[in-house]
Amino acid sequence: MQKYSLLSSAPHRLQYGILAVLSLSILAGSIWVLQIAQTPSIPSYGFLGVYGTSVFIFELISAILLFAHYRQTKLLTFALLSMAYLWVALLAPFQIFLLTDSLGQFSLVTASNGDAAWLWIAWHIGFPVLVAAAMLVNGDYSLKVRRVWLWAAGLFGTQIAVATLLLLATLLSWFALPTLISPSRDFSDSLSLVYGPLVMFSCALALTIVVVKGKFENVIYSWLAVAMLAMLCESVVVIYSGSRFSYGWYAARVLNIISSAAVVVSLLIENIKLQYKVVEQNSTLKRMATMDELSGLANRRELDERLKAEIQRAMRERTPISLILADVDRFKKFNDNHGHLVGDLCLKHVASCLQRNILRHTDLAARYGGEEFAILLPNTHEEDAADLAEHVRKTIAYSPIVMDNGKILSVTASFGVATLIPNAASDATELLRTADSALYHAKESGRNCVQRPPQSWHSHRDELEQKISANARYLRSGTAVKSIKAG
Ligand code: GH3
Ligand code: MG
Ligand code: MG
Repeated sequence: MQKYSLLSSAPHRLQYGILAVLSLSILAGSIWVLQIAQTPSIPSYGFLGVYGTSVFIFELISAILLFAHYRQTKLLTFALLSMAYLWVALLAPFQIFLLTDSLGQFSLVTASNGDAAWLWIAWHIGFPVLVAAAMLVNGDYSLKVRRVWLWAAGLFGTQIAVATLLLLATLLSWFALPTLISPSRDFSDSLSLVYGPLVMFSCALALTIVVVKGKFENVIYSWLAVAMLAMLCESVVVIYSGSRFSYGWYAARVLNIISSAAVVVSLLIENIKLQYKVVEQNSTLKRMATMDELSGLANRRELDERLKAEIQRAMRERTPISLILADVDRFKKFNDNHGHLVGDLCLKHVASCLQRNILRHTDLAARYGGEEFAILLPNTHEEDAADLAEHVRKTIAYSPIVMDNGKILSVTASFGVATLIPNAASDATELLRTADSALYHAKESGRNCVQRPPQSWHSHRDELEQKISANARYLRSGTAVKSIKAG
């Protein structure tokens, strides 16, 4: 059952404890109730309604969730387990309706107590047989993807056909089934002596197979063992109780609800655990997708995304947006002198210097690539961006890198600053290009300095701005639009 380990986990110690206490309570309760099992109690049709509804809902939910497991794991084990629960969901409501005699109100239904007994046997033998079959199929063999629905159609189609035939035979008496009990009695000798023990034997066999093959190795198999134990106890108590609405009969119904609910509980536990795991893994994946592993800063992808979003915002709000590009000076030489590991340490140090100077939560420090970093500053003028760059430059230049062996190293970095009030989405590229050329100038001017775009760039930009606002005025006044060519 290795394939299933991806989806399910072993129960924790506490859960094993709960399972043990529950199993012992089922056993002890069943043995105790045997003493008063045959004592008649008050007939309650309301109880039958609640019982029938809860069994139907629990079994149907189990069948659906187990089918989802089958689709995910492609293991036939879960298709058969889903069938076991669907089998009960299909038959149990009718069997319980027969007990309330409410179906007699439909003229078509000619069922008797004997038919209810047939449905009970089909339910109580079919369920353990399907559970045993599920545990006996090879749990490591996954079906091919295209076979999953083919198998499902074959298995569930056959099951629904068999259940329909059985319901036609019992409820509508389309064909005769051998008489199990005489109409005047609830339970005949043959039911007690032959079918009862057969049901007990099937439940005991299925329980043994679930324990031996499942080895309590995951939550579902462990709770399935409890479900089979409760069903075995139910069949013993109900046969021993003899008549409907005796104490034993009520106790058996309660055991049946425990049996039905057990796997729903286990599937809920599994689903909750899976939900936690998915949320955790999603946040890890998200962090990995947006964060640079070495520096702990945002990565290039995150910077590009934020830049795009901030350009849009700045366009809407007509606010300036600034970008600082930083490049560690002579880093190749640093690596050659001290080795790549120390080089990595240096990059972490530079990253922390950047991060230390970021005060607004809207600003973003990122690793642009290699030994290049970027700081995105929404709603920031060029003067302020240049000031921040100068602060970061000084922080890097004046804070030493202290090595484990006590050696002290230092590096410097060069900075290029760019600012614009964007008019189009393509201005993101424009901002990067301008910051990069300013950085190039910083390198040219001897490194360890901050450079802003040359004045010529500003005048060109201002000219463009004027043209755009003039065009907007033309648009508002309904005059022909003048074409604007950038550059
Ligand atoms: P300049 O002052 O002109 O920027 O010179 P430079 O040596 O810093 O520039 P160059 O682009 O020639 O060298 C960059 C070096 O950065 C080369 C590369 O080995 C190193 N580098 C890039 N990424 C990493 C990294 O993740 N770890 C380490 N240790 N080194 C890196
Ligand atoms: Mg570089
Ligand atoms: Mg460099």
